[in-house]
Amino acid sequence: MTEKVVIIGSGPAGWTAAVYAARANLSPLVYEGAHTAENHARGMIPLGQLALTTEVENFPSWPSGQLREYLKTALPFEHQPFWVQDDKPQPGHGVSGPELMELMRQQALNFGTRVITDDIVKVDFKDRPFKLYPGDGGVVETQTVIVATGARANYLGLPSEHKYKNQGVSACAVCDGALPRFRNKPLAVVGGGDSAVEEGTYLTKFASTVYLVHRRDQLRASKIMQTRALENPKIAPKWFRVVEEVLGDEKHGVTAVRLKSTQDGGTETLEVGGLFLAIGHTPNTDFLSGQLELEPNGYVKWTKPMRTNTSVEGVFAAGDVADSYYKQAITAAGTGCMAALDAERWLSEHGVE
Ligand code: NAP
Repeated sequence: MTEKVVIIGSGPAGWTAAVYAARANLSPLVYEGAHTAENHARGMIPLGQLALTTEVENFPSWPSGQLREYLKTALPFEHQPFWVQDDKPQPGHGVSGPELMELMRQQALNFGTRVITDDIVKVDFKDRPFKLYPGDGGVVETQTVIVATGARANYLGLPSEHKYKNQGVSACAVCDGALPRFRNKPLAVVGGGDSAVEEGTYLTKFASTVYLVHRRDQLRASKIMQTRALENPKIAPKWFRVVEEVLGDEKHGVTAVRLKSTQDGGTETLEVGGLFLAIGHTPNTDFLSGQLELEPNGYVKWTKPMRTNTSVEGVFAAGDVADSYYKQAITAAGTGCMAALDAERWLSEHGVE
C-alpha cells in the first residue's frame, strides 16, 4: 500500500499537520520517533522538545487554571500526567509541555491518525512513490512527506563535557534538575537565551546557587523571562565568561568548571555540582542524508515564500527543522497546518484522491 502522507516527527508541527491531514481524509501516518537510549541522550524523544520543558505560558488558549478534570476526560489514563493519575496537587499554574503534547497527539488520534513509535532512519526521495526506512526495518512508500523532526540541544563540544554527560553535565534541566546529585549544590547554566534563563530559574528549586554563564553581558532572552531570572536571589550571572573545561572525578562526577573571560582571557575555577547547557539547537536532518536542500545554517530550506515546499516536489517541512528564526511551539503548529494544506493541494493537483 502506498500512503498519501507520512509525517515524520511528533512535536507541535507534526501533530498539527496530522490533525489537518486526518480531517482532510488523507489518513496520515505519523512516525513519532523511538524511545531509544540514544535518542534520549541526544534529546530527540517522541513529542519533541516540549516533552522536555515545564510550563508553557505562551501557547494561546492555556490560561492558568484547574486542568485536572479536562486532562482526565481528554486523555486515556496511561497518557495522563502522574499528578492526575495519582490525584496529587497540580504542579504548575497552566499546562505543561508534556501535557500539551499528549493532548495534541490525542487530538490527532481522535481523527484517525495512525502512529508508529519508531524513527525513520533513511529516506529515498529520488523516485516516486518516495521510500522511507523505519529503524525497525521494512520500507514505507508514500506520495507525500511532511518532515517535522524538530531540533535538538547543542553541546559545547569539549572532551571533558562529553566525559561527564549523565554525571553532572546535562542539556535538559527539566529532565535532570531534580536528581539527588544536583540538590543543594551550586550549578552552572551556560547560555543567554530563553532556554538558559528558563532552565536557570527552574534549577533554583533545587540548587543553592545557579551561575548563569554567558559570553556577553546582554541576554537575548525575552524581557519578562530575563527579569524573572535576574531578580531571583539564587541566580548569579557570570558575564563575559565561557566554559573552558569541566572538572570532576569518577566518584562525584562534575565538581567544578573552569571559566575563561571573553574579555581578557583570564581563567577562574567555579565549584559546581552540575553544568547545564542551553546554547541553542541543531535541526534533526541527519536521516535526510543530503536529499533536501538545506540553508547554510543546516535548517531545511523552504523554497517558496509563505509555503512549506522543499527542494523536492511533494516533500514539505514544518516546525523547527526548517525554522531557525521563530522556533516557537505556536509557529511550529502553524507551519504544521500549512504543510498539511500544501500536501493536500499537491495530492489533489496530482490526481491522488
Ligand atoms: P538561543 O536563543 O539561540 O540562545 C542560545 C544562547 O546560547 C545565546 O545566548 C548564545 O549566545 C549562547 N551560545 C550559543 N553558542 C554558544 C557557545 N558555543 N558558547 C557559549 N554560549 C553560546 O537558544 P534558546 O535559548 O534555546 O532558544 C531557542 C528558541 O526557543 C528561541 O526562539 C526562544 O525564544 C525559544 N524558547 C522560548 C521559551 C519560552 O518562551 N518559554 C523557552 C525556551 C526557548 P549569544 O547571545 O552571545 O549569541
